[in-house]
Amino acid sequence: MAIDPDFRKQRKKAGKEEGIAIWGPLDPPEKLGIRGTVAGVDWDICGGCGICLEVCPMNVYEWRETPDHPISEKKAFPVRERDCVQCLQCETQCPDQAINAAFLGPQSVWDRAMICIMFFQIIAGVIYGAIFGPYWDLEILQYLGWMVLVIALPFFLSPLIYFQKRGKPQEGKNLMSTTVIVDSGTYGIVRHPQILGCILLMYASILISQHWVAVIIGIPLSVLFYAEASKEEKGLIVKFGDDYKSYMQKVPRMNFLVGVIRRLWREKRG
Ligand code: SF4
Ligand code: SF4
Repeated sequence: MAIDPDFRKQRKKAGKEEGIAIWGPLDPPEKLGIRGTVAGVDWDICGGCGICLEVCPMNVYEWRETPDHPISEKKAFPVRERDCVQCLQCETQCPDQAINAAFLGPQSVWDRAMICIMFFQIIAGVIYGAIFGPYWDLEILQYLGWMVLVIALPFFLSPLIYFQKRGKPQEGKNLMSTTVIVDSGTYGIVRHPQILGCILLMYASILISQHWVAVIIGIPLSVLFYAEASKEEKGLIVKFGDDYKSYMQKVPRMNFLVGVIRRLWREKRG
């Protein structure tokens, strides 16, 4: 029997262990439920082979003792599931099919706060600039900001536009759980169009509002978003192997201008 892929909807949370959710029902020591949400491990199925500890590139799992459990007396515990990059190595290699990993969007308070602050910076900056005009009265920069905003939107919406049709997401999982590399559309220009879209939207907000609050929030946040892209890349290399490495050679991470030039060059060469 494999882990229920719908456990996040079908089961009830029975508490937390070291900040990691426990999904019931529980009746220890025989019935231990599922540990984790992003990388859920069904402890009633896990045979304690240790493969997930070996294959995970992000070191998400640690052992926990489970004395008197009828299947095994140690289990994989996803203590660092926040670092999961959705490479799915653990899920596909677990011999007992005890793991279900899923992209669920930002999970930690910090990640959620970052997203909320980003939307605040973008929306407040654009509304301020539209209503009151640019803070420094540099109208030419404000026009540039509106242009950047228009360019940023298709990048920001890239997963919605391309993943469903071209990414072949895993059945029953959301569209971020792609099974093939998407290298067309905006993904043929940069490797992380959505993150680039977020950064461009924050710069657009700075240019449109020209307010110091937008600058103070937007610049550090864009650095953090860029760092997020390199973290994501680690998982994608593990997930797609050499194919992703050759995609990396073809398409820049986020340098939009280089990406456009390379793409035109590729198209010219057929
Ligand atoms: S999906 Fe990949 S990164 Fe996430 S827990 Fe499994 S092996 Fe680790
Ligand atoms: S690979 Fe599966 S069976 Fe092996 S320790 Fe990890 S969860 Fe348990």
